[in-house]
Amino acid sequence: MMIDLKDLSFEELQEFLQNQGEPKFRAKQIFAWLARGVTGFDEMTDISVKTREKLAEVSYVSTIKIREKYVSKLDKTTKYLFELEDGNCIESVVMYYKHGISICISSQVGCRMGCKFCASTIGGLYRSLTAGEILNQVIFAQKDIGERISNIVMMGIGEPLDNYDNVIKFLHNVNNEVGLNIGYRHISLSTCGLVDKIYALAEEKMPITLSVSLHAPNDDIRNTIMPVNSKYNVAELIKACRDYIDTTTRRISFEYSLISGVNDSVDNAKELAKLLKGMLCHVNLIPVNKVKERGFEKGTKAQIEKFRNTLVSLGINATVRRELGSDISASCGQLRKKILDGEGN
Ligand code: SAH
Repeated sequence: MMIDLKDLSFEELQEFLQNQGEPKFRAKQIFAWLARGVTGFDEMTDISVKTREKLAEVSYVSTIKIREKYVSKLDKTTKYLFELEDGNCIESVVMYYKHGISICISSQVGCRMGCKFCASTIGGLYRSLTAGEILNQVIFAQKDIGERISNIVMMGIGEPLDNYDNVIKFLHNVNNEVGLNIGYRHISLSTCGLVDKIYALAEEKMPITLSVSLHAPNDDIRNTIMPVNSKYNVAELIKACRDYIDTTTRRISFEYSLISGVNDSVDNAKELAKLLKGMLCHVNLIPVNKVKERGFEKGTKAQIEKFRNTLVSLGINATVRRELGSDISASCGQLRKKILDGEGN
């Protein structure tokens, strides 16, 4: 079995290289090369050919291919369809903000969570990504744009907490100062609410931002749009979130996709405000993106503003998310789905 060097934590890489008879400094050297986006040992020019050949017998440098790339004419948002080594495809999106460049990355090929409004879950879960495949999205997007990516959001295809160990390893590796050196405070992870894993994440002592896809103020509504709610209901989820805030002292961000006639009434807003009262949190309101197969519609601008104003008047921090890359299917799973259906973009 060949080892993908990006699947190893820094400590595992050190141990692996020591077992190969290499000096201690070699791990730093190689870890840094990997982060720069080399595609093989040949490019590690400060390591002897003999050593490179020896390492290539037992390990390799994984890559991902840019299969499609779309750049928004509106705001430069860049969407990648990346092809993995086994031919599966995932999506990543690079967004340009005043405070820096941010990438939204995938954690799985497909998803098994079944949210009714989401395109990523339509074909179910194919497989989870390895730690190296998650990291490769950041490495090769950064190499392609030629500028430093400073922020990461794990909000692409897949449920990151359903791929817990690989995601945690990725977070350690992307944060390592020898590599990409992206601060935990510049990383957000979004979950549909796997409560047991939220408790585990709180114990990792990584000051990342947790986003929770809530989308409903009560079980009745949440049950109809998010199957995960039958496993962990709203009360259990909110309890885990309160624990997360207590343990990490980090503010939680709640995602709330507004779906016309489903969860966007003023009463829904009032119920949501009551649910979140006193929590260190922020609500991100997202007008639902229409997905052909799903039939959900976004409400009017006025309705969305009314929802937001109700929350704010009841003391809940809330903003309506700005849409980026609306001309290039930049949201969740939409591009991969189109390609699988043979429609192109
Ligand atoms: N599995 C994770 C992360 C991926 S989805 C999670 O559930 O949080 C990223 C965000 O986009 C989630 O909040 C998800 O609920 C939301 N989302 C998915 N499809 C959407 C759509 N059609 N319109 C608006 N938001 C959507």
